[in-house]
Amino acid sequence: MNDTNSSVSLGGKRILVTGGAGFLGSHLCERLLSEGNEVICMDNYFTGSKRNIMHLMSSPSFELLRHDVTFPIYLEIDEIYNLACPASPIHYQHDPVQTTKTSVHGAINMLGLAKRTGAKIFQASTSEVYGDPKVHPQTENYWGHVNPIGFRSCYDEGKRCAETLFFDYRRQHNLRIKVGRIFNTYGPRMHPNDGRVVSNFIVQALTGQPITIYGEGEQTRSFCYCLDLIDAFVRIMNTDDSFTGPVNIGNPDEFTIRQLAEKVIAMTNSSSKLEFKELPSDDPTQRRPDISLARKELGWEPTIKLEQGLAKTIEYFDGVLSAESKPTTHTAPGN
Ligand code: NAD
Ligand code: UDP
Repeated sequence: MNDTNSSVSLGGKRILVTGGAGFLGSHLCERLLSEGNEVICMDNYFTGSKRNIMHLMSSPSFELLRHDVTFPIYLEIDEIYNLACPASPIHYQHDPVQTTKTSVHGAINMLGLAKRTGAKIFQASTSEVYGDPKVHPQTENYWGHVNPIGFRSCYDEGKRCAETLFFDYRRQHNLRIKVGRIFNTYGPRMHPNDGRVVSNFIVQALTGQPITIYGEGEQTRSFCYCLDLIDAFVRIMNTDDSFTGPVNIGNPDEFTIRQLAEKVIAMTNSSSKLEFKELPSDDPTQRRPDISLARKELGWEPTIKLEQGLAKTIEYFDGVLSAESKPTTHTAPGN
């Protein structure tokens, strides 16, 4: 490692996590710190929050950088986990041009950094590279069925282009790349208003609002608990340099959206009723990862069943909602 802008090493590796203040990034920072590494968490707080990493701030091995990944940055690091990108449809569709820039310019900047420093680099890719898949379950050799000009394209095509860049940097510059295709993941620290299905249903159920099912609710998803996924990230990074992926990471247990709604209602003891709304365009009909490659190459498979993960996530949102409803000096009567 070149030491021009470094402090005294506290041991372990120096690792950059882009999007580190987000849902998955914050769990990853926590895991990497617990293994004795120095972690630089870079984020522009578009969807992430300092709250997610507040508990890590007192660690001398943790450093926080407000920075937009679409601009170059000079750091000395051993590994990069590139997670910066809004992940929920309402967030990535809010400023679609910026979403594509984040994936594409962000990948170029991080690959350039990896090239200069010789760092290993992991890309948080997505099952969206398969679009509305015609092959089920999805295997890594399936090229996908993606609309290039629709509302989801800024995310799907941005992530596809990022994968292209990763593999071209590998072929052209021999970079040590790792690409993980993440399937729907949930857990504590999801943004309560990000519109993703698990957070939406839990918040709606806990507050007695109708559970909004898009379409008939017959579309399927396979939900992975966040800590299982983070374990896969670290295993991917630690593979031999000859292993690049792409590798699917997610939970192969598949549920319809209606089944998820019924489970959440039952587990929260909620009186919420189902409300059917229009299905957004290009919403994938079915999604389930084939994780044979992850099992073989990483020795990994998810360990947390949906009910267990939902219980932890419900507990988290229950805490967030009750903290929000507690009177503060600004809201309490008489203040
Ligand atoms: P998230 O929105 O909670 O986290 C994304 C983080 O990136 C946020 O902290 C955000 O502020 C930051 N960010 C966004 N644009 C940035 C920019 N230009 N510069 C710097 N930081 C920026 O979402 P997440 O669920 O934690 O997703 C993390 C990564 O995993 C994303 O790349 C996402 O595409 C990928 N992924 C997630 C899922 C999932 O189900 N959670 C599925 C597939 C892929
Ligand atoms: N969905 C839903 N109600 C909601 C939010 C989402 O029925 O309140 C559906 C959405 O149409 C999709 C699935 O749940 O079919 C998963 O949506 P999410 O936004 O979590 O992730 P996606 O897999 O679509 O990126």
